[in-house]
Amino acid sequence: MPEMEKIFETIDGSRDEIIKLQAELTSRVALGPENGGNGEHKKSEYLKEKLETLKPDSIEEIKSPDERAQGGYRPNLVARWEGNTKGPTVWVLSHMDVVPPGDSELWERDPYKLEVDGDRVVGRGVLDDQAGIVSSYLALVAVLQTGQKLERSVGLVFVADEETGSKFGLEYLLENHRTIFHPDDLIIVPDAGNASGTMIEVAEKSMLWLKFTVTGKQCHASTPSRGKNSLYGAAKLILALENLKGAFDRFDKLFSPPSSTFEPTKMEANVPNINTIPGRDVFYLDCRILPQYKVEEIIEFAKERAEEVAQELGLSILVEPVYRQDAINPTSEDAPVVKALIEAIKRVTGIEAKPMGIGGGTVAAFFRKAGLPAAVWMTMPDSAHQPNEYCLISNIMSDAKVLACLYLNA
Ligand SMILES: [Zn+2]
Repeated sequence: MPEMEKIFETIDGSRDEIIKLQAELTSRVALGPENGGNGEHKKSEYLKEKLETLKPDSIEEIKSPDERAQGGYRPNLVARWEGNTKGPTVWVLSHMDVVPPGDSELWERDPYKLEVDGDRVVGRGVLDDQAGIVSSYLALVAVLQTGQKLERSVGLVFVADEETGSKFGLEYLLENHRTIFHPDDLIIVPDAGNASGTMIEVAEKSMLWLKFTVTGKQCHASTPSRGKNSLYGAAKLILALENLKGAFDRFDKLFSPPSSTFEPTKMEANVPNINTIPGRDVFYLDCRILPQYKVEEIIEFAKERAEEVAQELGLSILVEPVYRQDAINPTSEDAPVVKALIEAIKRVTGIEAKPMGIGGGTVAAFFRKAGLPAAVWMTMPDSAHQPNEYCLISNIMSDAKVLACLYLNA
């Protein structure tokens, strides 16, 4: 029986180390080329050094070719420690890249300089996904420091490119190094969760982003009859698309929210001045669709509504899917990784976690597509991608304890 209390104590005493790690990671800006950066290299180098001090049985930097990035590649780190027993490996996969700070006016301070405020640390990336990096690393440090032998083999994976599609990150690993992972392994992705740590994400909705281009005829605002106002078309169509909610109204309690969602989001700028009637409007619809529906049905429905509005107003409307990810087989609610997590969470926090489905977009979808049951879990406030992104030191400690239980099969 491993001495969990000693490990928990070590983790509770690691506040300074958490702050130091977070500060170092935050200062190493890891933005992908699509986000105006040149890759995750600085963060990856730093992490590789940290991992090497823990003497892994194997450590590899897997470079996915990306000519836009520094050195022509994106770095991915895979480290593994052999356990006592030959059973499944516990893998924890976090991502190194961050999203840009966005409007700097909204930040109270430099996004890349860590700020500590009681239990909070603030900075771009501290939560998404440095909280995952730090908790998985810290759990291992605590186990090894207390002289415990790992019961299970443990693997830490720090990937690139999660925020812009994973093509140079997990997708690349699974396409070129699929044998790293085994279907019996316990794969945890600490990259989404809720504030109580009770949400274990096992299923995702299909994701669909639709682009609508409404074309009319631009003219002077004082003579509307000489043109065709595309903004009327966009407005009417946005309202007509609200009918998607009624037409695809199934409920599934596994998911939060329990129904499909269809939301108009981005609207591109049309004319720069007020006295011109626009001849072209472009807007987008973000759809998160329960797996019970086919994505094709949604596209058809949207095209029909667009055609109706186009006919009525004498406009032309083009409907194009610009991103689509069809829901894939969820991880079973009884999968060993789900059970092991529920048990460990209960042991550490005393509360009952449960498997759930969300609106989609986690990197776990790539694992599931490859036939590897993965669970997404972490304890987190709702601050990812926001200005003044923060995470709680107490959440990192608690998650590290849960992961330590999994490493030790305790
Ligand atoms: Zn993330």
